[in-house]
Amino acid sequence: MESERDRVPRGISSYPARQTDRVTFLITAGPTREPIDPVRYISNRSSGKMGYAIAEAALDAGYDVILISGPVNLAPPRDAKLISVSTSDEMFEAVHRHAGASDVCVLCAAVADYKPVQVSPVKIKKNADGISIELVPTRDILQSLGRQRAREFLLVGFAAETDHLEANAAKKLREKNCDIIVANDARIAMETDENELLILFRDGERKKISRAPKTFLARELVKIFFKIRNKKFDKNNVMITERT
Ligand code: C5P
Repeated sequence: MESERDRVPRGISSYPARQTDRVTFLITAGPTREPIDPVRYISNRSSGKMGYAIAEAALDAGYDVILISGPVNLAPPRDAKLISVSTSDEMFEAVHRHAGASDVCVLCAAVADYKPVQVSPVKIKKNADGISIELVPTRDILQSLGRQRAREFLLVGFAAETDHLEANAAKKLREKNCDIIVANDARIAMETDENELLILFRDGERKKISRAPKTFLARELVKIFFKIRNKKFDKNNVMITERT
């Protein structure tokens, strides 16, 4: 569901022409909610702080920002184009609608991995015997972008892990075909103002940033993303590294 300010009249694209002189960051942030019934949902512990901090840092650096956000208790950055979503399917659609017009896609959201097969239209009654809810995997947004053969944007994913941080993050980089994976320890990162990061690059390079406020880390990340993005594309926006 898009917020009021995102609505554009029918037939008019919000991105009529790609402006080559402007750099656009698409950022996903926060959790998604997968409804079980009208009052219950499956979600993840995510404040959205890292994604919102990256959005602020990108705006401060002079870039355009499309922020696709799940439900969070944060004030949206003033100059971002905010698209508010709730479910993983809504986030998937919004990302695919805007990725083509973006130069850097940073998928920072804690998307729920599973959703109920069926959503009950009425509140499910408490049952002393317990209940089972059948779940199916949600669509992986990051992986779906990584599979786009002719993509022209830099693709950045996040990996929040509790164990084997580097190995799990490297696996994600490969399997989701991203250019960069930003790995963090979920226990340090979740719902806090600080984080520490391990950044893995497609070419095997790695970089650590020790514990610091998310606002500081966000500024460092935006600098890195912009630098790598410029390495990948020449001034005519043509990819200069090998397409995968
Ligand atoms: O597989 P995992 O959820 O740990 O991967 C984390 C990365 O994948 C994050 O960048 C997250 O935003 C993205 N993701 C996604 N869609 C999903 C699940 C994860 O975009 N359904």
